[in-house]
Order: sequence, then C-alpha cells, then structure tokens
Amino acid sequence: MPSVYNWQLGRRMRYPYEPASPKEQFAFVININRCIGCQTCTMACKSTWTFAKGQEHMWWTNVETKPYGGYPQHWDVKILDKLEQANPGEQRWSGTPNGDPKKPYGTFAGKNLFEVPHAIARGSQPNQVLGYLPTEEEWRFPNIHEDTPQHGQSKPMDFGSGEELSGGKKHKAWFFYLARLCNHCSYPACLAACPRTAIYKRPEDGIVLIDQKECRGYRKCVEACPYKKSFYRGTTRTSEKCIGCYPRVEGKDPETNGSPMETRCMAACIGQVRMQGLVKVDKENTWIEDRHHPLYYLVHVAKVALPLYPQFGTEPNGYYIPPRWVPLPYLEQMFGPGAKQAVERYRDPDRELLAVLQLFRRSNQIISRYEIEEGPKVYEAQRNGKKYEMYDDTVIAFNRKGKEIFRTQIEEPVYVRPAKHANSI
Ligand code: SF4
Ligand code: SF4
Repeated sequence: MPSVYNWQLGRRMRYPYEPASPKEQFAFVININRCIGCQTCTMACKSTWTFAKGQEHMWWTNVETKPYGGYPQHWDVKILDKLEQANPGEQRWSGTPNGDPKKPYGTFAGKNLFEVPHAIARGSQPNQVLGYLPTEEEWRFPNIHEDTPQHGQSKPMDFGSGEELSGGKKHKAWFFYLARLCNHCSYPACLAACPRTAIYKRPEDGIVLIDQKECRGYRKCVEACPYKKSFYRGTTRTSEKCIGCYPRVEGKDPETNGSPMETRCMAACIGQVRMQGLVKVDKENTWIEDRHHPLYYLVHVAKVALPLYPQFGTEPNGYYIPPRWVPLPYLEQMFGPGAKQAVERYRDPDRELLAVLQLFRRSNQIISRYEIEEGPKVYEAQRNGKKYEMYDDTVIAFNRKGKEIFRTQIEEPVYVRPAKHANSI
C-alpha cells in the first residue's frame, strides 16, 4: 500500500492510493467565536442542492451545538471511541507546535483511521478505513441538543473549569456552534473505501465528487467518512455528498464575471464567520508558502485556524478558529495540540491578524491575496497584563486576476445622520 505524507499529522501514513495533489485545493476557515447558530448557511445549501425527494435527511452543511449535538447523532464520539478501542491509550501527539510547515502541530504518534483496518475486518475482506454506518434513528434529528450547555437540569458538566482560557472567570457550563460541511479531504476516507472507484478528487480544485453513473449505493463511503458527510439516497440507490458548489468556484456565476466565487453556505453567512479559498499545495499535499493569501496566513502564519479532528488522518481542508471559552482538553481533542496557541493568539491579536479578520464576508468573490495599508493608532489599553494598541489599518482584498475586490478598515466608519430628516419621529 502506498505511503503518503500527511502534514497535519507530521508524518507519513498508509493510504490506498498515491497522493493526487490538485493544482489548487478547496479550503475554508470558520471562526467559531463569532457563529451565532442562525442556520442561514444550512438553509442556503439545502435550498440549493438537497430539496428533492429522497434527500430529506441530507444536510450537506449543518450547524450543531457542541458538546452534545451532532448530525448524525454522536458521530464524532462514536468514531473517536472506535479509534480508542483499536489503539487503547495510544492516541497521543509527540513534539510541540512549531514553525515547521511539514509538521506544525508536532507528530501524531497514535493510529489513524487508515492504520487500523484489521480491527474491522469483515469476513475475509478487510475494510480500507475504520468506520461505521449510522442507524436510521441517528439520522433523524438534524439539530438535536441545540443550545444545550449542560447535562441534565441542574448539574454543570465537568470538563474542567475553563479558568485558564477565560481570564479568571469560571465557565463550567458552555457550548458552541460547530458549522460543518464536507472537508474535501486531501486523503478522503470516502474515496478510499469506494469499491467501484466512483469517487474522485478534481485535479483543478481538489473538490471530492461521487460519479452518480458509477455509484451502486453500497454505502461504503457513508460508513468510511469519519465526518459523516456522504449520504445514501433511497430514491436513486446512490450516495450523494457536498459538491463544493463547483460551478461557483469555477467562476461560472455571472455575478463575478469569471472570477472564483465562494460556495452558497459561505456567501450566506450572516455572522461573517466563514471564508473559503483555493490554496496551492505541493506534490505531497503540503501547502506551498503564499504569505499574503488569507487562508495561508490564518493556518500557517498566525496559526489561529486548525483542522477538525486531524487525528482521523484524512487531512481535512476545513479549518476552525477555536472558541476561546471552551476548556482546553476538549479543544485539543477536537483540533489537536495547536489549540492553546490558537486561542491565545485570537484573544490577543496582533496588527496583521486583526486586519485579516476583517476580510471575512465582505464579498462573495474568493480572495487570493491581501495587502495592508497602515493607519493611525486609535486605541490603547492594558489587556491580559500587556499593553494593547489598535491601529485603524486598511486591508485590501484581491481576486485571482489581481483585481481589487474591496477595501475595508479596522474601525467601522460612523455615519451621523442629520438631526432633521424626512422620516424622523
Ligand atoms: S469529509 Fe468525508 S465525504 Fe468529504 S472528502 Fe472527507 S471523507 Fe469524503
Ligand atoms: S450562517 Fe454563519 S453565523 Fe449563521 S450558523 Fe452558519 S456559520 Fe454560523
């Protein structure tokens, strides 16, 4: 079996196919700190792609309340438990987060989903990937446990005090919204598991698709995807999944005149928490340095955006700025060892990070590059025992053609309406 390099794990791993590195890779960053759980993204996707008969249970993008919510129910707890059973007590990371783009989070010393297939051999045919098929009941409640911060009526859950992350304040009860979609993984588990090779990664943008003519509905992809983002459709007897809104990414939408455009779920986000992009990767799927690409900056320079469950081994291309009020052990399980540093950087952003955070959702076009023009100091204070200064810098976004899409400032402009105007009451 080929050995491929997984930079999120900081090491090589088994995968059934040689790496298929695309020309550019579909990727996104979601800032959990600002998600308000409004589900606009969820409905934007649903009303575009999955409103037909047989697609009722399909939520290609969904927003679930963690720690209890999940669609299908308990998807992450179940697969984490299976991994733990297959490799008891050994799911650990070695080394520390560092500046090496080949292993920025250290090295995962445990076993990932491709490395324990013997644990789930069925008959004489071992599966390529550790997984499970959710029950029908688990697909029934797309938003179960919404806004549920604690177990039972009165007992606060005990995931630690949260003291360290919230500046001395205790948050024993907490929750956060986790917006999810297919990660268009660099090493997709769905693709690895398909016995008909009906799943492929597009060479131009790394979007993972299921060829509907080849699919026979064996549901191996549904079983293998650890994020449970492949869905079986009973009316066609095939599986379907997020298609990354590829006509928009290709620039086919008249709105952008040929420039790549963000997906429906990204473009609809009211909380301005989502940013999608196309990043350059080398032959082993490691990101090529692109210093002024906003996603490269957030993931590899500021290191505030982290992959979701990197230990699964699929090298997901969805990244999250972790919520700063959640106890660290939970965040480290979900986002790996970079969580502490990411929260600290986000709580105390420097000048460049503050500017790049303004780029979220100012346009529907995909941003390929940004520039910052320095402005005057507008604020100064003591924060977390340190001097904090804020400057009214201007950040400028460019599309793939190098054309300016928009410019915006750190401080929102204030418009004072005249005291007398027509509709005054
Ligand atoms: S998230 Fe799941 S469905 Fe999407 S590419 Fe990865 S393994 Fe496949
Ligand atoms: S639209 Fe944005 S703010 Fe609303 S739930 Fe989705 S990700 Fe969160």
